[in-house]
Amino acid sequence: MAIQNIVVFPGSFDPITQGHVALVKRALPLFDKIIVAIGVNSQKKYLFSLEQRLEWLEETFQDEPKVEIAYYEKLTAHFCKASNAKYLLRGLRNASDFDYEKTISQLNAIVVAGLETVFLISEPQYSHISSTIVREIIRGGGDASPFIPEAIKIDL
Ligand code: ADP
Repeated sequence: MAIQNIVVFPGSFDPITQGHVALVKRALPLFDKIIVAIGVNSQKKYLFSLEQRLEWLEETFQDEPKVEIAYYEKLTAHFCKASNAKYLLRGLRNASDFDYEKTISQLNAIVVAGLETVFLISEPQYSHISSTIVREIIRGGGDASPFIPEAIKIDL
């Protein structure tokens, strides 16, 4: 079989937003397989459990045969290598995303030689959406539905 172009899209997805979904949809024609993977950081506090976040990812991408859902506990770059993924996918919404992502991408290419990060610039209609904002809305008792995929329901 021909070599597959596999990309890992890593994140916290706490929770998944329409911004994440739009990015994955745009990346679909570029790769043979997209592994949407939750990076578990024991130092970080999440609003939603790992099980809940995985379930929402599964529901959101259930009709996309090229998308696989996973989670990992160690380094993102090592997870890519173990998954035979030569590429990482990240989104850029603004200049502060760029500053942060540039450093991480350069580090990842050292941790695993040749690992390339592919960046997609956010479409303007999604560039204000972040999981942080969605969590704020949920904590404040607001309606987060305009920012999250239709398939998922967040019960307040
Ligand atoms: P992390 O905790 O690693 O930042 P996130 O779940 O917040 O994980 O985001 C994962 C990836 O999705 C990041 O590359 C981020 O830039 C991208 N992303 C998040 N929201 C958007 C959006 N609205 N438009 C484009 N990319 C986005």
